[in-house]
Amino acid sequence: MDRYRIPPDTTVDLAAFDPGDTAGLEEKEAKERVAALNRRLEGLQELLYAEGKHRVLVVLQATDTGGKDGVIRHVFDGVNPQGVKVASFGRPTEKALAHDYLWRVHPHTPGSGEMVIFNRSHYEDVLVVRVHGLVPEGVWSRRYAQINAWERLLAEEGTTILKFFLHISPEEQAERLAARRDDPAKRWKFSRGDLEERGRWSAYRAAYEEVLSRTSTPWAPWYVVPADRKWFRNLVVATTLVDALESLHMAYPDPGEDLTAVLIPPAG
Ligand code: AMP
Ligand code: MG
Repeated sequence: MDRYRIPPDTTVDLAAFDPGDTAGLEEKEAKERVAALNRRLEGLQELLYAEGKHRVLVVLQATDTGGKDGVIRHVFDGVNPQGVKVASFGRPTEKALAHDYLWRVHPHTPGSGEMVIFNRSHYEDVLVVRVHGLVPEGVWSRRYAQINAWERLLAEEGTTILKFFLHISPEEQAERLAARRDDPAKRWKFSRGDLEERGRWSAYRAAYEEVLSRTSTPWAPWYVVPADRKWFRNLVVATTLVDALESLHMAYPDPGEDLTAVLIPPAG
C-alpha cells in the first residue's frame, strides 16, 4: 500500500494515478480482507483508548461523490462507536469566518486515546476557497506552509496523522451523480451544487495536485486512494490505517501490581 503514499516534496501529476486501480485484486477477496481489517481495527481502537497515550487523526478529502461517507461506514464497521468521532466541515459560519481558518478545526483534533475522522477539513481552505476565489491568492498561497506547521505541532504533541485523497474519475462521478438522481434512496444526496462543481473539475484537480505536492510531509503524509472501485478504496484506507496503528506498538497499561490473587468480595 506504500505506493499510494506521496513522498515529501514530490510534484504530483494525478494523471499518473489510475482511479480504477485494483492492484489485480478481486472484489470478493478485497471484501474479506476488509472484514478482517475491521476486526483488527476494533482491537487497535480499544488498545488506543486503554493506553491513552497516542492521538489519531484521519483526514478524508475527495471530489463530490468520492466516497468519504462510504469509507467512514465500511472501514470503521464494527469499531466501538464510543471510540471514534467524526468531525464534518461544511461552509464556515460567520463566526468562523471572523477568525483564522484553523480556528474552527483545532477544537476537533483528537485528545489522548482518541481517534477522529475529518470529513473534509482545513484543506477546503486551499481547495474550494481557491477554486472559487473566496480569498485572494496572496492569502491562500501562504496556507500550505501554515498547514504544514500546524500539522507538525499536532504530530510533535503525539498525534498520528493520515490523510487520504479519494481519487475518482470524471466518468465514475457521472455514474454516481446519475445514481443519486435516479435512485429514490440516494436522491436526498443529490445536489445541483455538485453539478456546478463538476464543471470546475480541472480547477479542482490542479488545486488537489498542489495540496498533494506541498503538504505531504513526514509527519502528515497524503495517500492517493484509487476510489472508482469502492471495495478497493476501502481496502487501501483500512490497510493503511491498521498498519499505522500497529506500528505504534501499543500495549495495555500495566496495573502496577499483581491482580491475579485479588478476591472479588461478596456484594453488600
Ligand atoms: P457536504 O460535504 O456535501 O456536506 O458539503 C459541504 C460543503 O461545504 C462543500 O460544498 C464544501 O466545499 C463546503 N466547504 C467546506 N469547507 C469550506 C470552506 N472552508 N469554505 C467554503 N466552503 C467550504
Ligand atoms: Mg456534497
